[in-house]
Amino acid sequence: AKDHGKNQYAFYSKALTKQAEYRLKVEQYLREAIENQSLSLAYQPQIELRTGLCVGVEALSRWYHPELGQVSPIDFISTAERIGMIQPLTELVLKTACTQAVNWQLQGLGSMRVAINISPNHFLDPDFIPLIKRVITDTDIQASNLELEVIETVAQTEHKNLPVFAELKELGVLLAIDDFGTGYSSFASLKHLKLDCIKIDKYFIDDLLTDNKTQLLVGSIIEMAHNLGCSVIAEGIEALGQVEILKRLGCDIVQGYLFCEPSSPDSITALLRNECDH
Ligand code: C2E
Ligand code: CA
Ligand code: CA
Ligand code: CA
Repeated sequence: AKDHGKNQYAFYSKALTKQAEYRLKVEQYLREAIENQSLSLAYQPQIELRTGLCVGVEALSRWYHPELGQVSPIDFISTAERIGMIQPLTELVLKTACTQAVNWQLQGLGSMRVAINISPNHFLDPDFIPLIKRVITDTDIQASNLELEVIETVAQTEHKNLPVFAELKELGVLLAIDDFGTGYSSFASLKHLKLDCIKIDKYFIDDLLTDNKTQLLVGSIIEMAHNLGCSVIAEGIEALGQVEILKRLGCDIVQGYLFCEPSSPDSITALLRNECDH
């Protein structure tokens, strides 16, 4: 029995080693991908309900590795955070997305906002404001066309009184709260941050057609946001019926597969060209 236990242990320990080895390998590949700038960006249009026009795009990171295949950003973003590579990743995303937005504008496709996801830890990093300033200077993007999407964690304790938020406001950069309503401190984020935009999570949008209570909640969130001077983006729109309800509830902007999946820069260019031609 003793021997058996020992074998079991050896078995598990071998499996654990395999797992640890795999993890190390993924970490190494990701480090290389960020250093070689071989991540890419997909852009998802944000459609203004009043006009039906694309008024902005959200930049979403993509990582394809020949051996690992397509890795979900949910996985590689947290890996990048863990191994201390989120700073260069965000820098790459900011530079690429802002350059692209300016490019669209130079092509006469309109002045668009570009939204970028920012991990909470950046707001504790003294290099963050200098990075944003550098991106604005280097890419020539209008600060008011750059929107930073943050999750409500940034309104909690250590973050909430940081001068970084006032400094961002001073630069003229926009601030949006992402995944609104899904965490524990959505209201705290409204209290502590000067927000320009609230993004209502797909979690609420999914039930909009079937659940009257959800409609009331979403209606209240929109009214509250407007009272606070924020615009409202609804995320994860997959059905036309949801759009009708959101229009009625006064939502400003919608984003979701119904309109467009996150797409390559070229597809977005084509979409914008098409818009201009009409
Ligand atoms: P998120 O910021 O909440 O982004 C929205 C996610 O919902 C995206 O997933 C998008 O592709 C997906 N989505 C959009 N419309 C629909 C829809 O109609 N239906 C469904 N089912 N999904 C929809 P994605 O691209 O896989 O990104 C997942 C998360 O990874 C993002 O959630 C964001 O938190 C994070 N992420 C992605 N890129 C970056 C980045 O560059 N930096 C940081 N810090 N996080 C990122
Ligand atoms: Ca987002
Ligand atoms: Ca979101
Ligand atoms: Ca999310």
